[in-house]
Formats: sequence, C-alpha cells, structure tokens
Amino acid sequence: MKLHTYSSRGLCLAPYLAGLVLAVWLGLGGGGLGWAQPDPSWLAHDRTRPAPPPVDPGTGSIVAEPGRPPSDAIVLFGGSDLVGWCALDGSATRWVVKDGAMECVPGSGYIRTMQAFGDCQLHLEFATPAHVEGEGQGRGNSGVFFGLNRYEIQVLDSYENPTYADGSAGAVYIQYPPLVNASRPPGQWQSFDIVWTAPRFGADGQLLSKAWVTAFHNGVLVHLNVELTGPTGWLTRAPYRAHPEKLPIALQDHGNPVRFRNIWVRELGKPGKPEFTFSEAALRRFVGEYDRGRNELVRVEPAGDGLLRFTVQGATFDLFAEGPSRFFAKTTDIQCQFETDPQGAVTGLVFSVGEGGIRAKKLK
Ligand code: MG
Repeated sequence: MKLHTYSSRGLCLAPYLAGLVLAVWLGLGGGGLGWAQPDPSWLAHDRTRPAPPPVDPGTGSIVAEPGRPPSDAIVLFGGSDLVGWCALDGSATRWVVKDGAMECVPGSGYIRTMQAFGDCQLHLEFATPAHVEGEGQGRGNSGVFFGLNRYEIQVLDSYENPTYADGSAGAVYIQYPPLVNASRPPGQWQSFDIVWTAPRFGADGQLLSKAWVTAFHNGVLVHLNVELTGPTGWLTRAPYRAHPEKLPIALQDHGNPVRFRNIWVRELGKPGKPEFTFSEAALRRFVGEYDRGRNELVRVEPAGDGLLRFTVQGATFDLFAEGPSRFFAKTTDIQCQFETDPQGAVTGLVFSVGEGGIRAKKLK
C-alpha cells in the first residue's frame, strides 16, 4: 500500500502523514497515557463500535503555494491576517503579514495563539531568510513553543550551518537533536509536523506524566516519541514546574525575520471546550470580592497562566477562560459569567452549579 507520495517539488506531506503520525503515537502509548491497549469495552471486530469520523485530508503543500488543511483542523494562520494571535503577554503583536506569510519583526517579542492547546497535531511551514546573515544560532533562528514559552522545537537555518546538535533545526532544544538534518536551503519553504503530548500535573502540582514529541521535518521523521526532561532553555535543563495542560502555542523572536505560513492544529484526546489565555491585565479587572447576599462573599484572585482562582463557601476552584468574560472549572461543573456595565467595568458575576444561577455583586 502506498502510504504517501514524495514529489520532487513536494514540500510537505502533512495530510498524508497524519494517519502515520497517529499510528506511531497511538502504537507507542500516546505519551505514556496508557492508550496502547485496545479498549476492553469493545469486542474484537465489534460491529456496534462507532466508525471513525470522516475527515477530508486536504492537500499537501508545494514550494510555490501552501496546501489545504484537513477539514477538522483549526487554522491558526491561513495567510491573510493575525486574528487569534497576540504577543506573549496578551497585548497586540507587532509581527506582520507579507505576501501570505507572517513574519517575525526582530525585537518585537514572541507571538502566541490566543487559544490554548494541550495534546495536538501541529503543522506549520517556515522559511528562514534567503539573504544569509550570521552563523550558528544567529542564522534564521526562531522556534515553535508548546506550553506558552516552555518547550521549544528549534527553527533554524541549519543548511550548511554548523552549530551544537541539540540546537539545530528540529531539535527539542537542549534535549534531543533531530535524528537527521532534513533542512532545505535558506529562503525555501519547509515544514514541521509535530505530535505533542502535554505534560500532566496533579492538583497539588506533582508531575503525573512528562511531555512527549514525535516530529517530522519536511516529511522526514526527526523525533520518535521522545520524552522531555522539562522545559527547554539555553544552558540548563530545568525541571518541570506545574502548569495548565492547555496553553498557547508560540513562535519565537530570536532576532531574525523568519517567515511562517499554513499553520494549523488538530486537538487530540478527549474533546473539551475551547480554552483561551488572556492577558493578566485583562484578567485583573475580574479580581476582587463579590457579595452574593446571605453574608457570603465570593472571592476571585489571579492564579497565573491565564487562570482565575474562585472561592465560594470555603471551596476553591481554578477557572479557565472559554471567552473574554466566561469561565469554567474542570473539577466541578461550575460556570462563571462576569457582568459589565456599558463602560466595560465589571459589576458582578453569575455562577451556576447544575441548574439556575447565583448572582453576586462586585464590591469596590
Ligand atoms: Mg530558537
């Protein structure tokens, strides 16, 4: 059987690789989450088992033009605008769109998605500057980050550009060099297809399972389910520190005008609500005490990483954003909608547990 087709001018084989990637990932245990075993709740060849949902796989890219994402992908960048992207702190990005590509403006800082992602399949295409300047880590450096700014897959012009192996194109920076150097010459479009398994942390912050990566560079396997030791970073391999399972995907500003196009993601694992990571400044306006009557107060505090901490009747919950003023908890089915006046000032909240809603008025 022909799994996929290599074309001499073909660029990326993402749609054709998707099944292969998933097969590798699932076959190796889905990042240690115990998915390697067939589900015992179904018989072998069980005729009542639901069929896989159909997906239009889209088309692969060629150098001259990007392909079409699979039908179930979330398109993060389609070539025309930076809607859904912002700077690392949630403010407006200064990256620009030129000729169907988004381009890093040196000195502008990282760019990140507003939406947060956990386990996922990420496709993106990048081109390092055609005009070669610098050497080693200074040539065409950027990076694809998961976990906001914690875990980097290196973007670099690694075409005839020696540098340390664990910092070359496709490396899990400082941890794993790519299996091979599949780089194209500077200026040409290249692709990454990355299967990311997010680390998991318990309620008290202990590490439950590490992050895992499988990745293809220009259709060539460069990582087969490697286990990250913790965050990536220059000089040191830092230990894991607890963070939400879903966080934005970011692209690095390392001082070079690297371009990106055709960025899409498919969320994996159990479906959930979309989650967003708003700026700390945007969240700060919700912080305070709210009077729900009966001499009871509801308290809302900042919790970092785009979360709010919600305390009611002595019980505390982390709230995740599903919209600019709408939040939910994951351990208990609590929904929280903040209310504003016409000027945008927060006046109160309505939270619900099960049916109905409880209104609480914000105190000064
Ligand atoms: Mg980098």
